[in-house]
Amino acid sequence: ILLPIDENHDQIKSNIKNVVFSEVTPRPLERNVRLVCYSEDALCSILDMDPEITTRDEFAEFIAGRKLPYGALPVAHRYGGHQYGLWVGQLGDGRAHILGEYVNRHGERWQIQLKGSGQTPYARVHDGRAVLRSMIRAMIAAEACHFLGIPTTRAAGLVVSEETVVRDIYYTGNPRRERAAVLLRLSPSWFRFGSLEILSRTGEVAVLKQLSDFIIKEYFPDIHLTDENRFIRLFSEIAHRTLDLVAKWQGFGFTHGLLNTDNMSILGLTLDYGPFGFVDSYDGGFVANCSDGEGRYALAKQPDVVVWNIGQLANALKPLLTSSQQVHMSHILKTLDTYCKNKILETFLMKIGLKEERWGDEQLVEKLLDMMQQTGADFTCTFRQLAELEPSEMVSEVKLGEKWSLKRLSSHSSWGCWLDQYRERLDKEAVDASSAGLFEDERRCRMLSVNPVYVPRNWLLQEAIVDAERDDYQKVRFLLEVLRHPYEVQPEAEKRGFSSQPPQWAYALKISCST
Ligand code: AMP
Ligand code: MG
Ligand code: MG
Repeated sequence: ILLPIDENHDQIKSNIKNVVFSEVTPRPLERNVRLVCYSEDALCSILDMDPEITTRDEFAEFIAGRKLPYGALPVAHRYGGHQYGLWVGQLGDGRAHILGEYVNRHGERWQIQLKGSGQTPYARVHDGRAVLRSMIRAMIAAEACHFLGIPTTRAAGLVVSEETVVRDIYYTGNPRRERAAVLLRLSPSWFRFGSLEILSRTGEVAVLKQLSDFIIKEYFPDIHLTDENRFIRLFSEIAHRTLDLVAKWQGFGFTHGLLNTDNMSILGLTLDYGPFGFVDSYDGGFVANCSDGEGRYALAKQPDVVVWNIGQLANALKPLLTSSQQVHMSHILKTLDTYCKNKILETFLMKIGLKEERWGDEQLVEKLLDMMQQTGADFTCTFRQLAELEPSEMVSEVKLGEKWSLKRLSSHSSWGCWLDQYRERLDKEAVDASSAGLFEDERRCRMLSVNPVYVPRNWLLQEAIVDAERDDYQKVRFLLEVLRHPYEVQPEAEKRGFSSQPPQWAYALKISCST
């Protein structure tokens, strides 16, 4: 560790200064620890482990925090953040321990973290634990996002114990006991915007500079440590990666739910899966987190709120900049809305099978989303079913048969008109291809590869959680398995209705940030 670390954490109760980490050992889960699930891909391709290891008690004990790997130095990271737009000061890893960094056989460096592994100096009034339902959601979503192609932190395994903690899921004054779980998470880095914000806000400029240089050195090798504009470059790089991420989210209807600056990765990865949701019936106003009363983090507001968050990162870096560099940074900031808007348009053009933007394309996408919103068409299935349409089916009179989401969309009075425009637009693209038939095949292939059949919908997670709370982990494991291949139609998943119209109760499901 090349950054300031505090070994004397007993003295630290609330605000500490000039450290980036605190050394603190996990408090293992004790009673009857069991393995709920694991990610074979994360274990094999990141941690170089043989999946056979999961059959041994040692593995569950490792995740439970009882067996530390050789050479581990468990630390909790100190960060701050803006929550719901307000600066709330120091937060930090209240219930997570970074055990160290693992260099795998591909030479990649991954930081291993336990979440739910006991209180740290940053736990404040909280118990340091995480509950099973939330960790199941985090586990499945992280792995699903990876296979969907959304940059993300990973999850390798999950254990549960008989130890219980008290949670009030919907803050209704009816707390209940729930079993504690620990999630094994992986990321190249766990630094967030809030890692820099805390140092800047409290005037710890020397450490701010040290951490910024450390981040450049470790994660942004294209930026030179001798470059006097390196902090501007760092900012620009983080900003653009983050907006690339947002464009991905929008393209899958992924609503993070809690886009506080402490949940914004400096590597542009999806971080902290809590009250997230993949929208079912498309609604730009979809709020995944029922604790977000004002809808600050609604689906369609994500681009703006992330640009706002990037503004906070800019503020955090200001003490490291000369006045002319600050002007430069404010110029960059002004370009971000447009950058993000273009990225999102690019994403949606890909989803409808168009490679390059032409005049009128933006309206074509907007009109489609408007119709989806007005008819309540399913986000994921509409795009998938559009990808599956044969050219001969692209006329408004055609029966849509099994394509239930398109059927719903086609009830819109503008559907026929939109479809005509869409077909004409595709024809323009086909002109450049040597044969129209070949183009059709190629377009369908492209569309099928960016429009998934399956996403981790809240209702699917909920069904798996209900069973897991009764110690039946089959649905959790099945979901993980299906979501390894989200672009492939899978008979068993079809039978269970994973790509059918969600049940009525799915639309009423509420998710809070009580984790
Ligand atoms: P989140 O809202 O999940 O991003 O967490 C915000 C902050 O609260 C972070 O500093 C967490 O570490 C902390 N936190 C949330 N729940 C707990 C808990 N049960 N024990 C300790 N810290 C927690
Ligand atoms: Mg967080
Ligand atoms: Mg969290």
